[in-house]
Amino acid sequence: MEPSDFKGVYNPNPPKPKPKKRALELGMEQLSGVGRIIAVASGKGGVGKSTVAVNLAITLARMGIRVGLADADVYGPSVPTMTGTERAIPEVEVYDELGQPLPIDAELTEGCKEIIVPVAKFGVKWMSIGYFARPGQALIWRGPMACNALKQMLLQVKWGELDYLLIDLPPGTGDIHISMVQDIPLTGAIIVTTPQAVAISDVEKSVNMFLNPQVNKPILGIVENMSWFTPAELPDKRYYIFGQGGGEALANKYGVPLLGRIPIVMSVRESGDKGIPAAMEDRPVFEALRSTAEKILAR
Ligand code: ADP
Repeated sequence: MEPSDFKGVYNPNPPKPKPKKRALELGMEQLSGVGRIIAVASGKGGVGKSTVAVNLAITLARMGIRVGLADADVYGPSVPTMTGTERAIPEVEVYDELGQPLPIDAELTEGCKEIIVPVAKFGVKWMSIGYFARPGQALIWRGPMACNALKQMLLQVKWGELDYLLIDLPPGTGDIHISMVQDIPLTGAIIVTTPQAVAISDVEKSVNMFLNPQVNKPILGIVENMSWFTPAELPDKRYYIFGQGGGEALANKYGVPLLGRIPIVMSVRESGDKGIPAAMEDRPVFEALRSTAEKILAR
């Protein structure tokens, strides 16, 4: 033990005070240029929530709307793969307490802010926790950490001027979801479901979460995904593999619009895997989503 470790002992070379690390105080200022914030949610995983969110963002961009997408699915971020941006490393900008830019290697003192620049591709600004994890790395979060990561994906990002910011929420309706949707100034939510009954009963929990008085955010409508399958050799046939009418029944029950029905299309899966979403190159998929996007804009 050094003599200077004793309280009250004179130390001729006192250690320099360490700069205080900035606390994670995230305000809403990065959202100030954003017109509307829409959560894309589902009761359970695998219904195509991320696929719908990504393709909807691209469709809106192709319609001339300024759009961003925050992949808040902190447990299974899929935006980097779906958009072919998994190698992107978002830039970080540092600002002092007065909002003046600082060099990236500046010592961070209290009041400094680090802002992440979203990845731009297909005319959309993308942000995902996946950009900060190694590919294939499992993301394990305890509740409060997940909640913070999720808020960072929204509040610490340089969104700039946007007409719409979509948030791809993690599936489910737990405490994390409630605390997140309570704190974000959401315009409303879009609920994605498949037509079959199991998905519907799960998805009702999601609808109820937004309608819960604690949360109280409007449901803009339902998007039914994987509504039918049309084989290439039988273009007039529709096979209702997962049942029929579930999305419509749900919409009617809650008095909200059915914003669209998206068929099962091979190119949707293939293009999601190869990093060029179907809305970029598949005409029928783009058309199906354009009518959904128009209904959202009309609301
Ligand atoms: P979630 O976000 O709800 O977990 P994903 O968007 O990851 O679901 O979709 C799950 C899988 O289903 C992905 O492989 C995706 O490519 C595929 N998929 C989603 N929607 C469609 C569709 N309309 N047609 C074909 N495949 C689809």
